[in-house]
Amino acid sequence: MENDIACNGNDSINSNVVSNDARNNLLVRNESISAVHGSLKLPIGIAIASKSQCCVCRIPLVSPTITIKKEDRNNILIRRNVDIPKGSRCCKDHTSNGYLSREAFFKLTAYKINYRIFDSNYIIDTMEKLRTMVHYQKHIDFDDPSSLSDADYKILTGFTRKQHNRVLECIPSTALKNSVNLSPRCALACLLMKLRLGISNAALASMLGIDN
Ligand SMILES: [Zn+2]
Repeated sequence: MENDIACNGNDSINSNVVSNDARNNLLVRNESISAVHGSLKLPIGIAIASKSQCCVCRIPLVSPTITIKKEDRNNILIRRNVDIPKGSRCCKDHTSNGYLSREAFFKLTAYKINYRIFDSNYIIDTMEKLRTMVHYQKHIDFDDPSSLSDADYKILTGFTRKQHNRVLECIPSTALKNSVNLSPRCALACLLMKLRLGISNAALASMLGIDN
């Protein structure tokens, strides 16, 4: 998506500031969607673009802060139709391992609507990402910060995400094997799930989408 979306040239802040995605949808309902020369012109929500204001909770930024990663920007555009301008920042509390937490992922809202032109290459690339997402999300993924909520962590492992991070920090990196399909974070989650839920290795492997 850094193959960036061609813009309609009107990127100025819209005076129709809106409070959430639902209202955004209402505002654009009557606008036309057009196709020109293999491209599509579509309405898209735009998140706050400021280096001094959090794009999630919109308060003035106070260090430490995090720049929203490209992966999060792609993910939120595909799943929520909200574009986070490159370079946008948020409070560190909204992130886990540098990526937006699930809670922040759904808290972030657009504040204006713009029309943007998406070329055919972008649309093909996005459809490929969608296929990957649909396939990938069959399993529990502890490495994807937007995949599990704090409540999910607690139910599955007995720890919140923060507690899980804390335990992970206390374990020497050499003590946990980092394999192709099992990161240290996932390995710890595996152990905690085993202890908490008392399920078989086969059941665990099936839930996490890894080889038994
Ligand atoms: Zn914030």
